[in-house]
Amino acid sequence: MTKSIERIIPQPLAPGMVGDGFRVYNYIPGGENPASAVSQPRISPFLLLDYNAEIDFAPSNRVRGVGVHPHKGFETVTIAYKGSVAHNDSAGNSGVIHPGDVQWMTAGAGILHKEYHEENYSKKGGPFEMVQLWVNLPKKDKLTKPHYQAITADQVTKLTLDNNQGQVNVIAGTVNGTTGPALTYTPVIVANLNLNPGAEFATTTPAGYNTALLVIKGSAEVNGQSAPNHSFVLFKNEGEEIEIKTSGSATLLLLSGEPINEPIAAYGPFVMNTKEELIESIHEAQSGKFGRLA
Ligand code: MN
Repeated sequence: MTKSIERIIPQPLAPGMVGDGFRVYNYIPGGENPASAVSQPRISPFLLLDYNAEIDFAPSNRVRGVGVHPHKGFETVTIAYKGSVAHNDSAGNSGVIHPGDVQWMTAGAGILHKEYHEENYSKKGGPFEMVQLWVNLPKKDKLTKPHYQAITADQVTKLTLDNNQGQVNVIAGTVNGTTGPALTYTPVIVANLNLNPGAEFATTTPAGYNTALLVIKGSAEVNGQSAPNHSFVLFKNEGEEIEIKTSGSATLLLLSGEPINEPIAAYGPFVMNTKEELIESIHEAQSGKFGRLA
């Protein structure tokens, strides 16, 4: 049965800055107007989707980015399309996310980190395109020790489609029999569908999973409806089948996951189950329990 489309949400009108290094359109939870908002329970386990659509940053000797900030109770997933981002954290980890790479960070019990333009990219400037996705953790795993999965472009699983229709890059979960490298706490599918002109790509996700597509590049027809560039297709929890047709080249980010049916208490970079746990988290961050980072 074809998966029904609930809404096709256009690109938000105005981007916002995260620090001075990320110029993002926010799709989850949205909220620019009620018609474009996608509530966290509705799209669980996804909590936030920020898309830095491609822009050119001018060359700079001063590195742009976002300064020291905490996360607790969920995972942050950074998907690099263009440009490079560096990070370091209060546990002593650091690294660089290059185009095609994915950083899957489990903040768990709490961490402080910084995210900024990698130095060589910063000096050269040029195209920059990123997604940051937040994935919730179930209550039983919220206090897990912070850790990373640094998934390089060559580790992302590639599924070459028949008849030169394109390539699916599977980051997490299984798409048409191909499984991505990311380990997740609940069932989650994250994949880039890179489709050539004239593709007719079909896939399925379980009806019970919350499922959406972000049109990163080009445009497409999704289950018979027109999905313009940078639109967000939110499916109903009815039916399994998704069919995507393209006229030009297109890239769509597929997000699908089994809902975590637990209360969500969110305050900025903390996502817990109760207000009391949020207050405790703020105290922990302030008192140095997440470590120190200059
Ligand atoms: Mn962060």
